[in-house]
Order: sequence, then structure tokens, then C-alpha cells
Amino acid sequence: MTVDVLVVGGGPIGLATAIEARLAGLSATVVERRSGPIDKACGEGLMPGALAAARRLGIDPPGRPLRGIRYLDGERMLEHRFNGVEGRGVRRLALHEALSARADELGVTRLEGRVDDVEFDGDTVRAADVTARHLLACDGLHSTVRRRLGLESPKRIPDERRRYGLRRHFAVEPWTDTVEVHFGRRAEAYITPVDERTVGINLLGPQGIDFDEELTTFPRIMRHLDGAEPVTSLRGAGPLRQETTHRVRGRAALVGDASGYTDAITGEGLRVGMAQARSAIAAITAGDLRRYERAWARDTREFRILTNQLVVLATSPLRPLLVPAMLAVPGVFGRIVDRVAR
Ligand SMILES: Cc1cc2nc3c(=O)[nH]c(=O)nc-3n(C[C@H](O)[C@H](O)[C@H](O)COP(=O)(O)OP(=O)(O)OC[C@H]3O[C@@H](n4cnc5c(N)ncnc54)[C@H](O)[C@@H]3O)c2cc1C
Repeated sequence: MTVDVLVVGGGPIGLATAIEARLAGLSATVVERRSGPIDKACGEGLMPGALAAARRLGIDPPGRPLRGIRYLDGERMLEHRFNGVEGRGVRRLALHEALSARADELGVTRLEGRVDDVEFDGDTVRAADVTARHLLACDGLHSTVRRRLGLESPKRIPDERRRYGLRRHFAVEPWTDTVEVHFGRRAEAYITPVDERTVGINLLGPQGIDFDEELTTFPRIMRHLDGAEPVTSLRGAGPLRQETTHRVRGRAALVGDASGYTDAITGEGLRVGMAQARSAIAAITAGDLRRYERAWARDTREFRILTNQLVVLATSPLRPLLVPAMLAVPGVFGRIVDRVAR
């Protein structure tokens, strides 16, 4: 049997892609190498646009409301509230459960297995013993399929732009209804409330950061934690920046982090990935997957530009001036937050 869409990777974007396929009347199979609920180092902030996209897919995962974004630098703080919309802090496990249940409800076939190779044969593509009309690779930052398809950029990322993420949760009542981004000397600490007694803390910065040690360099966060215990083990991801030359090859295409990623500094990976999932399926239903290339550029353009600018600043000698400069021109921060909220 030939399936319409074979999705490699059952992370949030793989599941969203399979759900989009079913909503468009296509048959869909997801191959995921891991079993059970899937966790990952992630800030877990569904920005308002991501929450709206999740609802469009038919899920409403549990979590904690997010009403804006704060940037903090020592005791300095600037905050901008989302304008009439709300985001949500959602544990990855809860997001995975909601997406999995929706995929099952819509009749997505889910297989456990690891894709190591992709074969093209006339009008079909084959991987993990599944023959499909199209293959959408949603296998994350270090995508095997991207490499197999020859879509990885040969450009070397400069060492100072190679950033990594570390995540842990703490048992403490959330002290904020925003995503807080604390700018430290060399790392940013992201605070995301995910339920009434848990906050997630992500550290974004250069390789080799020791989570516990670095956290002590954020006295304001330490005060809020007030000795609270970590309730999850440490998870890491990176290097975050991954570049691709193209997103489509024949009957296969890259979606989500597999298609290229800039950084987690704006917390938009899920929104952008869900937009790509929708565009890839629209291209398939229009009978021409090549259309996805242009749609991908449109879906990711603003994310790539803004994220890149922030990372350039955050990894430059101007880093200590970032928050003071935004405090001096508050309209700029407001515009950034309004854009991230879309
Ligand atoms: C530190 C950090 C903080 C972040 N914070 C936020 C945030 O607050 N908000 C936000 O929106 N985004 C955030 N992001 C980005 C977000 O986590 C990603 O954009 C999102 O997880 C991408 O989903 P994905 O499904 O493309 O990839 P993944 O979530 O990586 O899923 C890929 C899946 O593919 C599977 N897989 C891999 N290889 C194979 C293979 N060969 N065969 C079969 N299966 C395979 C993996 O097991 C995995 O389940 C953050 C990222 C990081 C690193």
C-alpha cells in the first residue's frame, strides 16, 4: 500500500504535519524512533500564534497563560503585554500527548522506527519499509534525512554563533504570567511557567555551560526559586543554528527544525514549524511540492531576520547594552513582542 504522506519524526511538528495531512483528506504515517511520551529541551512557550495554530489543528493542551514578554538585566526590566491575545506555557509531554491523541483520532498510522535512508523510485519515495507519494522530514535539528537528501548547507557556522540550550523544571509557584528572558553575562535564562507549581528554566548560551553554576549568576531568579528543588533532569540541545541550501528534493521536503533553525531567543520554533507544516501539505494538495520552497521562505523570513539580529547582538561586545538600549527606546521592544505574538 502506498501512503500519501510519510512523516519522519513524531515530534510536535511531525505530528502537526500528519494532522494537517489528515485534515486535507490525505493518508499519513509517522515514523518516530522513540517510544512513549517525548520530552525535549525547549522553552515550552506557545506564543499566541502557536496556540492559535494548535487550536486550528484541534488541540487545546493544558498549561499556564502567558500574557507578555519581559526582558531583564540585573534589576532592570522592560515588559510588553500581548495585545488582546494570550500564549501558554505547555510542558512538552502535555503537548506531545495532545498532538498524539489528535493524530490517533484522525487515523494517522504511527510506527516506531528509525529512518536512516530514503530511496526515490519513480513516483514514490521509500523509507523505514513504507512506500509513500511524499515524504516530509520532521526529524529535528540534527536531521538524518536532511543529510541524506544533500540539503544541508556546507557553510561553517562561526564558533561564537554556535549556541546551545539547557533546560530544567523547578517546583515553585510561578511568579510571573510572562516569559521572562534574563540577560546574564554570557547566557540568557528563560523562565516559562507551565503549571500552578512548576516553572521551566532554559539557559541559552555558548557550549560548556554548567547549568547549576550559571544559574547562580542570576540572583533575581535565585531569589524567586528560594531553594526550590529541580523536578526534572537536565536536557540539552544544540548547536541551535542549522542551515539548509533548499527545503525540497523531488517528492521529499524538510519541515520544522529539520528545515533549518536559527535560535530559540524569540521562542518561535513551534509557531514557525506549524506554519511550515500547513504550507507543505497545501503544496502537496495543490499537486506540486516545489511550491513549498517559496512558502517556506515566506513562513520563516521574519523569524530568521529578527532572530539573527538578536543573536548577533547577544553574541557581540554590545550584549551588555541590549536591555538598556531597549529601555531607552521602549517602542522597539513593544514592536518585537507584538511581532513574536503573531
Ligand atoms: C532550548 C530551547 C528552547 C526553546 N524554546 C522554545 C519556546 O519557548 N517556544 C517555541 O515555540 N519553540 C522553542 N524552541 C524550539 C522548539 O523546541 C522546536 O522548534 C521544536 O521542538 C521543533 O519541533 P520538531 O518536531 O521540528 O523537532 P523535534 O522536536 O526535535 O522532534 C524531532 C523528532 O524526530 C525524531 N527523530 C529524529 N531523527 C529520527 C530518525 N532518523 N528517524 C525517526 N525519528 C527521528 C526525534 O526522536 C524527535 O521526536 C526551543 C528550542 C530549544 C532548543
